[in-house]
Amino acid sequence: MKAIRRFTVRPVLPEALHPLSDLARNLRWSWHAETRDLFQSVDPERWAASGGDPVRLLGSVPPARLAELAEDRRFLRRLAAAADDLTDYMSGDRWYQFRSAESDLPAAIAYFSPEFGITAALPQYSGGLGILAGDHLKAASDLGAPLIGVGLLYRHGYFRQTLSRDGWQQEHYPVLDPNELPVVPLREPDGTPAQVSLGLPGGRRLQARVWLAQVGRVPLLMLDSDVEENDLGERSVTDRLYGGGSEHRLLQEMLLGIGGVRAVRTYCRLTGHAEPEVFHTNEGHAGFLGLERIAELSDAGLDFDSALEAVRAGTVFTTHTPVPAGIDRFDRELVARHFGPDAELPRIDVERILRLGMETYPGGEPNLFNMAVMGLRLGQRANGVSLLHGNVSREMFSGLWPGFDPDEVPITSVTNGVHAPTWVAPEVFRLGARQVGAERTEDAMTVGGRTDRWEAVAEIADQEIWDLRRVLREQLVLEVRERLYAAWRQRGAGTAELGWIEGVLDPDVLTIGFARRVPSYKRLTLMLRDRDRLMELLLHPDHPIQIVVAGKAHPADDGGKRLIQELVRFADDPRVRHRIVFLPDYGMAMAQKLYPGCDVWLNNPLRPLEACGTSGMKAALNGCLNLSVLDGWWDEWFQPDFGWAIPTADGAGTDEDRRDDLEAAALYDLLEQRVAPRFYERGQGGLPDRWIEMVRQTLMHLGPKVLAGRMVREYVERLYTPAAHAHRAMTPDAARELAAWKARVRAAWPAVTVDHVETSAATATAELGSTLSLRVRVGLGDLSPDDVEVQAVSGRVDTEDGIADATATALKPGGGPDGEGRWVYEGPLSLDRTGPFGYTVRILPSHRLLATSAELGLVTVPPEGAVEEAGVLMR
Ligand SMILES: *Cc1c(COP(=O)(O)O)cnc(C)c1O
Repeated sequence: MKAIRRFTVRPVLPEALHPLSDLARNLRWSWHAETRDLFQSVDPERWAASGGDPVRLLGSVPPARLAELAEDRRFLRRLAAAADDLTDYMSGDRWYQFRSAESDLPAAIAYFSPEFGITAALPQYSGGLGILAGDHLKAASDLGAPLIGVGLLYRHGYFRQTLSRDGWQQEHYPVLDPNELPVVPLREPDGTPAQVSLGLPGGRRLQARVWLAQVGRVPLLMLDSDVEENDLGERSVTDRLYGGGSEHRLLQEMLLGIGGVRAVRTYCRLTGHAEPEVFHTNEGHAGFLGLERIAELSDAGLDFDSALEAVRAGTVFTTHTPVPAGIDRFDRELVARHFGPDAELPRIDVERILRLGMETYPGGEPNLFNMAVMGLRLGQRANGVSLLHGNVSREMFSGLWPGFDPDEVPITSVTNGVHAPTWVAPEVFRLGARQVGAERTEDAMTVGGRTDRWEAVAEIADQEIWDLRRVLREQLVLEVRERLYAAWRQRGAGTAELGWIEGVLDPDVLTIGFARRVPSYKRLTLMLRDRDRLMELLLHPDHPIQIVVAGKAHPADDGGKRLIQELVRFADDPRVRHRIVFLPDYGMAMAQKLYPGCDVWLNNPLRPLEACGTSGMKAALNGCLNLSVLDGWWDEWFQPDFGWAIPTADGAGTDEDRRDDLEAAALYDLLEQRVAPRFYERGQGGLPDRWIEMVRQTLMHLGPKVLAGRMVREYVERLYTPAAHAHRAMTPDAARELAAWKARVRAAWPAVTVDHVETSAATATAELGSTLSLRVRVGLGDLSPDDVEVQAVSGRVDTEDGIADATATALKPGGGPDGEGRWVYEGPLSLDRTGPFGYTVRILPSHRLLATSAELGLVTVPPEGAVEEAGVLMR
């Protein structure tokens, strides 16, 4: 029978147990093992049945058990200690507060993301982007950084994955009742739920409630359109993550960006929280937040252009997408329909909005509205998520800054990190605590960059490391058997045919993990390229390997589902099924067991399509070695002391098929000749000394680097603080001044010219250490020397006279203007490098409120023939 209405009956906790409810509602339990242990002891069986979810647990414990605990002195002492610990965590000064004393850090930062992966108990993520956002909030909390997270609450989250008998992915969308989730409604002082509202075409309105999840010290606001005031269509705006068509997606993104700013304002009004000085958008999806803030400022009396400048100053945009096809783009027409007088942001000219998302570069689609392009135009600061991805992004978006070399495109990079307390197995943490104490271990894991704290790993005995690895591997083996059994039952197998599962995987065999979403670039099935060879590796008599695979394909991606099916069918083969498994429903709960239990984490994307990748970092923190293509973070930090690089055939003009062949062969070779022999090789004491040393090097070298604490610190120091300072400098008058100046410079720029360049030496060779003097005559049109910088740019030149590793020196205005309105600039040029050397001069706009001189995308260089003396020296 189906219920016609659904309620959640809340438990009534005895007075003495009230602190349990605070502990359950603050998601810090998700990265604090002691709090979880406390919940487990409330009722171990129900704890396991709840999947380790305190809210669910408390909803299911019988009153008799609660009454018993309320009298249990020992339990009450532990409860009081846990509650005190949380209070200390919430109120004490942390890194940010100490750092604030030195430089003026932002009062608050709003962090917007379409998904947040904080715990399996709040399944509001699909993969890496969401988990990263969750780790960002947790690390911010640990550091004391005043973030406010902003996202959506999806009624079905992403989807749960099962398999059909023949290995085809099935999607399920269980209903998530917010009353059973670790969230509370944000309320107005009169007790009514706080709501935000958006205008829709045709005068309809979209209402959304605001839920609050407490992530340690950081509040996370989640907007939910499933409220009674909405029509059926509008109620389903927040039904699923990445489901539905284009309009559905646009509405989600409008709700996230525009509604999100309104939710932040409401939250600050209701709680007295400081208003954000910086808005950070995690990928382009939340980009409409900039439009809402422009509208706020317009209502306060600023014109569009000045408001745009004010908004840009305090906005940070992070791109995660290394391929144009991965970017969110909408039909221009669709966007136009949702803005303007009869829809949302009625007082803003729709044309101005459309222009922000226009692909104005060669090859751009005039009829599409590009969210990443808008993100870059609405944020004065932007970044990619690894060094390599920074390069790729500067290249990919260079069309927006014509005239600049890609390396000058103003997109920097902050390499992603992971939240160690979430991803490090309790056993690993305990080993650290035994070595240097719990407090120092916690410190090493949260603050980031503390290499000294990680050096203690060198002191840990080989035997201890190897025992730890064995324990973790064995736990994984048991977990895999349980999951596999459940999966086969679900696929329709009877218990009698599943006896073999008890023999699946071996706790002493080299264990390789591969789990991730299944877009084609991640190449789930590369390992199947040569099945015979893979089978030999799996069944090797002395050096066998075993592989655990998991991953979800996007529901609309049949190609991805075919890859999963191929893998499942291979793993179903009785000859190898004890050595390779596919586990359905990859998510945080599985991941937390999988990373620690593997010896090797495999990653074989098509380089450079993995923007960063983070699963390998989580594995590394548990002493698992990485075997990966040099892509994303691995390209940056790989060293042969602690891992392996799979050679790639990118950039060689090789077709994809051939490339897969080459790279798969390289993978098999590595596994067969390097990885497996090292794992099974035994030294004098009977231990794999060289393997253990690699584990140690992994922890010591990567430990301090891969942390989300390091990442958030970088965001604070390199992006948030400069953005907050720019925001403070951008008073309404300053914004008007900057907007007017930009308009004037853009209009005058065609008349800016470099007319003539003279150098003091005419020789084609010169000596290291000598100095040339440069004299440059320029025309500035209606501009004055205050509006520009004239630079000498010099450096090593390549065979096509391109200047590599260029340094720029400002030249000084000597005299002018002459009768023809020309100015002379002068300055020295020191020849400080041997070998082929070259220089050029250029003119750039210059203003104190610009973040970089490339910001306007304007630059003037000398035309052919403007140089009087030899321009290229020392050939
Ligand atoms: C870390 C993580 C990811 C992202 O891993 P990548 O290496 O970026 O592919 C995806 N899903 C889950 C559950 C994770 O924990």
